[in-house]
Amino acid sequence: MAASIIDGRAVAKEVRAEVAGEVEAFRKAHGYPPGLAVIIAGDDPASRVYVSSKKKMCENLGIHSEEYAMPASTGQEELIATIRNLNNDKRIHGVLVQLPLPNHLDEGEVLETIDPRKDVDGFHPVSVGNFVVGKEAFVPCTPLGIMRLIKKTGMEIKGKRAVVVGRSNIVGKPVAMLLLAQHATVTICHSRTVDLPGVCREADILVAAIGRPEMLDGSYIKPGAVVIDVGVNEVGRTEEGKRILVGDVKFDEAKEIASHITPVPGGVGPMTIAMLMRSTMDAAWRAVGKGGCGCSCKS
Ligand code: NDP
Repeated sequence: MAASIIDGRAVAKEVRAEVAGEVEAFRKAHGYPPGLAVIIAGDDPASRVYVSSKKKMCENLGIHSEEYAMPASTGQEELIATIRNLNNDKRIHGVLVQLPLPNHLDEGEVLETIDPRKDVDGFHPVSVGNFVVGKEAFVPCTPLGIMRLIKKTGMEIKGKRAVVVGRSNIVGKPVAMLLLAQHATVTICHSRTVDLPGVCREADILVAAIGRPEMLDGSYIKPGAVVIDVGVNEVGRTEEGKRILVGDVKFDEAKEIASHITPVPGGVGPMTIAMLMRSTMDAAWRAVGKGGCGCSCKS
């Protein structure tokens, strides 16, 4: 039987509706809305698209948003000063710096300047450390979205074998830690893993975060597995110039073997900005002394 398709657009809509309700409740209780500041330096077209999507989503949900578009020539000190101002701004609960930064800027120092209480992207080393030791912390948004999608399948994560292919700080490592926090037995694979198909075939939950078009074919999938495909790979353009995207999993083969699978596009992708809104809301609740774990991992 073919797998159920996990509809990321629908789940993202649910998250947005949940956040919109909380934004309204917060505004009523405090007289001002949650606030998110996004800093972008330079003219990278993809980054500009992401920043404008984040702004639009904030507007739709009633979250106050501020965009700081700085030229590519911006100096380190100016960028740091902008972040420090936002750290001290009571109307702003989340601060994020759109990556990548122009080469002359020190990304590490920039990310470490963000107040961890406002670090809604979860890239500050303090956020990473707190998360790993199980303390309250922000967690990168794509892994949070992945967890929502897995939970949506109804599969109990506890005790399951989970395999994550990819060990980036943005996706692979944090999603592995979230699965571990939910009591899965987790294996992290990478480019030096021996017998990758064999390891993947042990997975009840398989997360592919590689960036290689359709690399995982049917031979990597355990019958009945939940397959989450994070990959976004452009493999061409339509006649109208629209990007043709595929994931890291050979969807047509995998869907005949898995129990649940995310499509590309329309799976993990739509979840990322929705979870950023969730984290901004969590930051606002925490700023007024309410709310528990900002990472939503236990919700
Ligand atoms: P990175 O390039 O940072 O990491 C890729 C990982 O894949 C690395 O750990 C690498 O291993 C591993 N890898 C590469 N080749 C192989 C191979 N042949 N066998 C096994 N492992 C391999 O990518 P990201 O984590 O940033 O992103 C992964 C994918 O997810 C990309 O397609 C990206 O576009 C997409 N993405 C989607 C998002 C969304 O919102 N939908 C958000 C973020 C990313 P090693 O460490 O050994 O080099």
